[in-house]
Amino acid sequence: MSEIKFYNTFSKQVEVFEPVEAGKVKLYSCGPTVYSHPHIGNFRSFLMADLLKRFLAFKGFEVSHIMNITDVGHLLDDADEGADKLEEAARKEKKDPLEIAAFYIDSFNAAAEMLNMQPADSFPRATEHIQEMIDMISTLVDKGHAYVVGHNVYYDVTTFKDYGKLSGNTLDDLNAGARIEVNSEKKNPQDFALWKHDPKHIQQWDSPWGRGFPGWHIECSAMSSKYLGEQFDFHTGGEDNIFPHHECEIAQSEGASGKKWVNYWMHARFLMFDGEKMSKSKGNLYTIQELVEKGFKQNAIRYALISSHYRQNYNFTFDGLKAAETAIEKISQCVFTIKDKAKGNAETSVRDEVTAFINKAIAEFDAALCDDLNVSKALAAVFELVKDANKLADPTAGEAEAIVTAIEKIDSVLGVLKGAGEEEIPAEIVELAEQRKQAKLNKDWAAADEIRDKVTAAGFVIEDMPKHEYRIKKADA
Ligand code: AMP
Ligand code: ZN
Repeated sequence: MSEIKFYNTFSKQVEVFEPVEAGKVKLYSCGPTVYSHPHIGNFRSFLMADLLKRFLAFKGFEVSHIMNITDVGHLLDDADEGADKLEEAARKEKKDPLEIAAFYIDSFNAAAEMLNMQPADSFPRATEHIQEMIDMISTLVDKGHAYVVGHNVYYDVTTFKDYGKLSGNTLDDLNAGARIEVNSEKKNPQDFALWKHDPKHIQQWDSPWGRGFPGWHIECSAMSSKYLGEQFDFHTGGEDNIFPHHECEIAQSEGASGKKWVNYWMHARFLMFDGEKMSKSKGNLYTIQELVEKGFKQNAIRYALISSHYRQNYNFTFDGLKAAETAIEKISQCVFTIKDKAKGNAETSVRDEVTAFINKAIAEFDAALCDDLNVSKALAAVFELVKDANKLADPTAGEAEAIVTAIEKIDSVLGVLKGAGEEEIPAEIVELAEQRKQAKLNKDWAAADEIRDKVTAAGFVIEDMPKHEYRIKKADA
């Protein structure tokens, strides 16, 4: 059996996985800031955690997973400045911040379900854990890691010797690169706010330091220790969480408990679009709902987002989505065909060579994922299995069952065979779209237009995509 290994952002090395408690895994993921619809970049990070969690369950671990919901304290600048993202959205949409949060939590849940994400055991919200945050801030003040200035509380980074280790920084380097500090209250430029006083802030709570609101980083320290304890196995997020968010979380949690906090830090590299990070601020984003509305299948979106290694940037393209659809089709077609071929066959025995190729595929799939979630290699093993299965001219019922069981086991990790979310485009419309594509390839524009009119009359729209591709939508979608 292969050892399970992961790249740890903290040590910058691939390490053998040893759980804190035998047979169990505790995993914390930084969840969405609920001020807008999450985009596919966000879901690339969330799905890395989903894949990790499903794989660890496949390996027999009992996994506890917590994903927080940020509904206060995340400022427009990921450091300590600017308006609160939720409050900014509330002002723009002329709503209460809690209404904004409720709306975008629904949006997140709907998209997560479309992507067949296994829900976390709990999704704690920052605004519902203010007391836990106040308690942790008080501990940090008592232990000399934090200081109070007026009604504000800051973390003194010089009191924590490992500050900068996760992101590979030293305080000297960070200070040299720091912008001119507007806030002269801080003792050191890298100190960060734990509690803030701002009369303009909409969401306010009483605290030992007066009315105010928590900094962004403290919520994850306070909520993870409440739900997972002071020491646990994994913490995940996107690469932009490494600094300052996770760096600050470590200083808070380890400063408060005096113990090592998280053993393995895993970060997904950015999903890119046209060479840039997909992000709300750049406006270059797609949501899951938008892609589904375009007629893309939900499981293909999931496949596309998980199928490249999480430590490499993923360049999102529509062609990539189409390729994902084709790949899933190959797997589901294999299941369908093998069952069909074995119909009426009562033989339950399985030939040795069939057992051998099934076991080989499962072992290779397992070994690839043990190697820091090498999903491309794992998928290669799946397609090898599909190829071998497709070669069987007359499988026994036992063989068909063994192959289907193996594919289902594999899919307990990949999660792509269920939840296709078919748009229910009728077969005759698909046929017309295909004829139109052929007409265009033959430069028969009149025929192409005529077919498009037929499709429109039937209540569907064909959308053209690069390389003569198309996407079919219901006209009212
Ligand atoms: P937010 O809702 O902004 O707090 O982000 C939620 C998660 O998505 C965080 O873990 C981010 O690091 C991650 N994230 C944001 N943009 C991208 C992207 N383009 N690619 C991958 N992960 C991202
Ligand atoms: Zn966090």
